[in-house]
Amino acid sequence: MTDVLVHDALVVTVDDHDNVYESGTVVVEDDRITEVRPTIPDDRTADAEVVIDGSDKLVMPGLVNAHAHLESSALRGAYSDLSYGELLVDMTVICQQLAKGELDYLAEAGVRLAALNFIRNGITSVCTMDIRSELGVPILGESGLRALTGPLISDLFWDEPVESQLRRAEKFIDDHHETYDGRIHATLCPHDDMTLTRGMWESVADTAEEYDVVVHTHLLEDSVSDLNARANKGEDSIGLLDDVGLLNDRLLAAHFRAADEEDARRIAEADANVAHCPSVFAYWSPDETCEWMPLPSLRDFDATVGLGLDDHYYHDNNDMFGEARQTRLMANHEWTANQITSLELVRMLTAEGARALSLDDQTGSLEPGKKADLTVVDIDDPNFKPLTNIYSLVSNAVTGRDVETVIVDGNLLMHDNDIETMDEEAVFREVDEALERYTDETDWEITLTGSKRPGTISNVRDLPKRGPAHLVGRLAYQSIKDHLPL
Ligand SMILES: [Zn+2]
Repeated sequence: MTDVLVHDALVVTVDDHDNVYESGTVVVEDDRITEVRPTIPDDRTADAEVVIDGSDKLVMPGLVNAHAHLESSALRGAYSDLSYGELLVDMTVICQQLAKGELDYLAEAGVRLAALNFIRNGITSVCTMDIRSELGVPILGESGLRALTGPLISDLFWDEPVESQLRRAEKFIDDHHETYDGRIHATLCPHDDMTLTRGMWESVADTAEEYDVVVHTHLLEDSVSDLNARANKGEDSIGLLDDVGLLNDRLLAAHFRAADEEDARRIAEADANVAHCPSVFAYWSPDETCEWMPLPSLRDFDATVGLGLDDHYYHDNNDMFGEARQTRLMANHEWTANQITSLELVRMLTAEGARALSLDDQTGSLEPGKKADLTVVDIDDPNFKPLTNIYSLVSNAVTGRDVETVIVDGNLLMHDNDIETMDEEAVFREVDEALERYTDETDWEITLTGSKRPGTISNVRDLPKRGPAHLVGRLAYQSIKDHLPL
């Protein structure tokens, strides 16, 4: 018997031909899609375990959140009104506390809350980089989501030897790769191109080659990236990754904000992938010049670009549809209108996002043979009338709140707005208790009307010492070297 059958729905396939069925049927057997086609009368009386009448509903591929961090989700609201500098200090402190295992309760509550929010917002795949990733695996696995995940690696941020970090990353892959029916994919996560030495990059490249897993990093998040690359004896950030053998189709580079046209060309030619996270940068706008990801060049060179919420708790939003809208608005603001079409934005949310995560053989489009990852949106609303240009509606008008059913691997994670894989009330209780414990144990005040961060002395006590001191020293040295006459 068929497991799931949706009939009479507006089906947006995002397949290679961009097929759309005004009144369409999607058939799911076990974990796969077996049919996508126009609805026939027999579909309405079909014998299936779950039959969804898709009248006034849009069925599309599940959304892909291509870059995220989940562990601090329970602290949403704490950061929202801080300056960028304050945010960086507080983020560093909390990372150290997480690494010491002092905040496992907060991490678990955060991952659970994030998973719940992602399902409610129509996200079916997420790529996350965390610190206590091993705690998140069972939570993500049992939530039913598809996830790429791995522990953060950095030798200029952590005071932990390179060898020990790598052994931990390798053990994570051994223990968790392809678990939960293959929905959990382990990744290598060198944190960024500002806080790794060349030796660490080389070791990561060796491990990536040996295990053949996605390498997820933050690349060209800031112009300091190229300075650190020169301190690492590279031409620039992309040149350094090329030198060590990481500039290839396994690479997922989050941000790419301080990149230029030439960087876009090199990323595209290497078949490497970009995760664009417009909200987090538009929200924090860390520099006066507002350098922005070279979206027009990336499109010109046919690079693969997915979209991500990044630290969704920094900008207090879990809505991936909003990232599509933000992508367009920021690109138009930077380079004038018409930089990207609505269809391209929908592809970034789905098929292109899946390609960025090396999941395109499994998910990202609705076509027979693909895994059954579907998002069903209620479009019976004046906000979607008249029903024209569906790609514009998806990228401009639909929000996560319009999602009513989510399916991953043929399993219902949310059905008619009821979460099927998690106990929502228990998650809320866990998050409230974690927040209360965290504010009791730290100098943070996080209340209904805002937050007050700890004082400088308390923060400095918890900051790492050796790694960051080394980082600041080598950047200062390289900066002086750059300005010396030849
Ligand atoms: Zn990030």
